[in-house]
Amino acid sequence: MNPILVALDVDSAAQAIALADLLRGSVGGYKIGKQLFTAAGPAMVHELTSRGDRVFLDLKFHDIPNTVAGAVRSAVATGAWMVNVHASGGSAMMKAAAEAATQAAAALGRPRPLVIGVTVLTSMTDAALAEVGVTRPVIDQVVHLAKLAKQSGLDGVVASPQETAAIREACGPDFQIVTPGIRPADQQGKDDQARTLTPAEAMKVGATYLVIGRPITGAPNPREAAEVIAASL
Ligand code: C5P
Repeated sequence: MNPILVALDVDSAAQAIALADLLRGSVGGYKIGKQLFTAAGPAMVHELTSRGDRVFLDLKFHDIPNTVAGAVRSAVATGAWMVNVHASGGSAMMKAAAEAATQAAAALGRPRPLVIGVTVLTSMTDAALAEVGVTRPVIDQVVHLAKLAKQSGLDGVVASPQETAAIREACGPDFQIVTPGIRPADQQGKDDQARTLTPAEAMKVGATYLVIGRPITGAPNPREAAEVIAASL
């Protein structure tokens, strides 16, 4: 499939639907995160999934296992194709999330969504991790949490392009790696994303899916931008 997941980082359902309608067929799916979900709610997810779109519901659940399991069940009911949880919530929480996805999908007669772990937020540095009591370097903590996610039954992780190769090596060929921080060659260093890779480079180091926002949504012709990126892969 087309590995591009477009981040619908907009404030309203109307804007999101307009973008999705414009891009349908040129991308592999849409990412709905906290901004759009808080504004437009689960109806927004239904709206797209009922049109046959793949939706990555990026809400990064992090709570006690029972609560995360309930949240995952609710996510399955929206028709989400991929959901995520914080791997730092621990193995019991991740196992509860994975089991809830399986059970809810069977009960509702829907396909089971992929359940993905967030390792270390890419905004965190070695110093920021040390501040919360984790004294090993970010890359070591990322690989540690990716392995724990795999052992706990998750399907993959979200990772920055810098971490993708190390995770691919540690977790094997079938583990899903979802990679944001992507910039086409002519857009490197243009905004707040640092240490970016091009779409083709990210696939080469082992990404399964590419989360891309502004290079597509901020382009004068978003559909053309998506098609150019897809052709570069
Ligand atoms: O516009 P841009 O391509 O930077 O959008 C990237 C998307 O991926 C945004 O929704 C951003 O919140 C998300 N993201 C990220 N880095 C992470 C995790 C998620 O940029 N480590």
